[in-house]
Amino acid sequence: MKDTFKHKGLRKKLVETLIDKGIKDKAVLNAINSVPRHLFMDSGFVGHAYVDKAFPIAAEQTISQPYTVARQTELLEVKKGNKVLEIGTGSGYQAAVLLEMGVVVYTIERQNELFKKTSKFLPKLGYRPKKMVFGDGYKGLPEFAPYDGIVVTAAASIVPKPLMAQLKVGGRLVIPVGDRIQIMTVITRTSSTEFSKKEYGEYRFVPLLEDKN
Ligand code: SAH
Repeated sequence: MKDTFKHKGLRKKLVETLIDKGIKDKAVLNAINSVPRHLFMDSGFVGHAYVDKAFPIAAEQTISQPYTVARQTELLEVKKGNKVLEIGTGSGYQAAVLLEMGVVVYTIERQNELFKKTSKFLPKLGYRPKKMVFGDGYKGLPEFAPYDGIVVTAAASIVPKPLMAQLKVGGRLVIPVGDRIQIMTVITRTSSTEFSKKEYGEYRFVPLLEDKN
């Protein structure tokens, strides 16, 4: 588990790529510059860690493309001390980026293999989410609601109602919506009963799987 000068140099280049692609939020760019993404991938794939691409992890899942992580984090518009729920822990990379920003992170994963692996791995790097839960993210995590932000890192065919209900007033839900191609959608809770919606371009994610139980 080494983070060398070479890795740091590659990360700096990645950050420059993200700036070229339009990421502006300094706190997000600093976080990407700090998180050792190569450690979130199997060692054989370390050479791929700092190109702006998604990559396979365990259980047929992927670590999201750095641009996508940066863009979703930027769209959350969160600051230090805010409370964020992540759906789809996966490798833990998105959670680590939020933790670097001083966000209080709650995260849910429905693949047991990944849940076990990542719950052991993140604390080893010093990243400590407030809660890591094995379960179905469609339902959110009502026991700790409301949240300043909710980020869904898998493709949803609809916006799950329970997630909207778990936002604070002023809170934002960042979710890729669609089947084959997804539209990055931001739902903002404008009052206890009202929500607004904005769309931010096309993405491709692995599907958010609904629990049949
Ligand atoms: N945020 C992750 C990206 C992982 S890919 C990262 O930074 O690496 C999406 C993840 O969502 C996968 O791990 C998948 O198993 C998980 N997932 C799919 N459906 C889910 C659901 N209903 N609840 C929770 N997690 C889910």
